Amino acid sequence: MRRMRRVKIVATLGPASNDEATIEKLARAGADVFRINMSHASHEVLKQTVGFIRNVETRLHHPLGILVDLQGPKLRVGRFAEGAVQLTSGARFILDSSDTPGTVERVYLPHPEILESVSVGDRLLLDDGKLQLKATKVGGGQVETEVVYGGKLSDKKGVSLPDTLLPMGALTEKDHADLLKGLEAEADWIAVSFVQRPEDIIDIRKIVQGRAGVMAKIEKPQAVERLEEIIKLCDAFMVARGDLGVEMPLEQVPGLQKRMIRIARRYGKPVVVATQMLESMITSPVPTRAEVSDVSIAVFEGADAVMLSAESASGMYPVEAVTMMNKVAVAVENDINYRGIIRAQSAEPEATAADAISAATRQVAETLDLAAIVTYTSSGSTAIRAARERPSKPILALSPNLRTVRRLSVVWGIHCVESPDAVSLEDMVDRACVIAYQEGLARPGDRIAITAGIPLGTPGATNMLRIAFVRQDGAGSS
Ligand code: PGA
Ligand code: MN
Repeated sequence: MRRMRRVKIVATLGPASNDEATIEKLARAGADVFRINMSHASHEVLKQTVGFIRNVETRLHHPLGILVDLQGPKLRVGRFAEGAVQLTSGARFILDSSDTPGTVERVYLPHPEILESVSVGDRLLLDDGKLQLKATKVGGGQVETEVVYGGKLSDKKGVSLPDTLLPMGALTEKDHADLLKGLEAEADWIAVSFVQRPEDIIDIRKIVQGRAGVMAKIEKPQAVERLEEIIKLCDAFMVARGDLGVEMPLEQVPGLQKRMIRIARRYGKPVVVATQMLESMITSPVPTRAEVSDVSIAVFEGADAVMLSAESASGMYPVEAVTMMNKVAVAVENDINYRGIIRAQSAEPEATAADAISAATRQVAETLDLAAIVTYTSSGSTAIRAARERPSKPILALSPNLRTVRRLSVVWGIHCVESPDAVSLEDMVDRACVIAYQEGLARPGDRIAITAGIPLGTPGATNMLRIAFVRQDGAGSS
């Protein structure tokens, strides 16, 4: 199975889609990575869903990525005596540490350490930003606020504190347990929600220990402030526009998205653009023009992947949503302006052999109109550097490591195949040609570019570029 596009598609699974038959339909329609959202999935559902995905992967002979998304420290108010209250603008409202049902005057905030860290003037956004409070007095285990925008507030609604640096790491106790289950299930990627500081990534890396890629979800202004430090430390990141649009002025999100995609390109870190991409398809078989335009922008910008949330997890048209995303991506990548836009944002190679070879390989492949670029990659890093060049020719990555193969499913333009390390130069050339031929990336008579590290099998030592000719039998000669 070969995709006719370079950008990847992440589809969130949920009640509308986490059965094996639907997962197969989604994969056939174009989903490259499946996201399991631990805000909703139990450990049992996680394990079962992973099993379904792996069965589909075997049946399709095509690697599928699994992204386990941790809920993170999502704050919520307690319950109300009547289930809900109506807050009026200008009124006084208190969040406190008393575990008693709330009224129109006060409610329980079951996070005592948060009550202590709010400062006068900080905003508190409730229910995805629909209501807004401003802290007027703090101390004594409570925060007194003035209602800026009122409305209905019901049990357990979320609280966002865009102005407050929360005195907590990105991992709650639940996240910790979910993370261990995710690793046990051999998730390829772990997404960390509400990252605030570089230390959050350092902490999680200590637990993950390379068993999965660590994806930082950028959805807090505190993370935006320290964006480059955070991005350097993670393996990939997500423009998590849902919470980002609550915690930051909504109109700043598109600019931030552009900025983040460019930083991703510069550092060579895969970036996923997420949330509300085809939102109306939750209930409609066709998206709005604005949504199609939104997906297109992410693809034109060269994002590594675009993501579906409720559209594929709980909507009425999960398969149609993936099909639509695939069609939009293919159309954009065939647009006459696409290559020009992608090239205009190219990043200078870093002063490493891997980058110099990647840049040279792209140049050679385009100048000689080669059929494909083949990279031997053990950890995946060489393949990611090749993708960072955004070459116009397909990238075929060969790795002896199944975990690498699956992890690369989120990276722009990489078609990855599991293949043992080559034993000799001749074997390396032959194998690259045979697999490029078998995977439909090259025909007899075509030439391909091959990069590898000599001596063979040494990770991180890409130092060779070779041009090979695909023979009639699919094998190669150089
Ligand atoms: P979520 O993350 O769906 O887990 O909230 C994505 C986002 O906030 O955009
Ligand atoms: Mn979020």
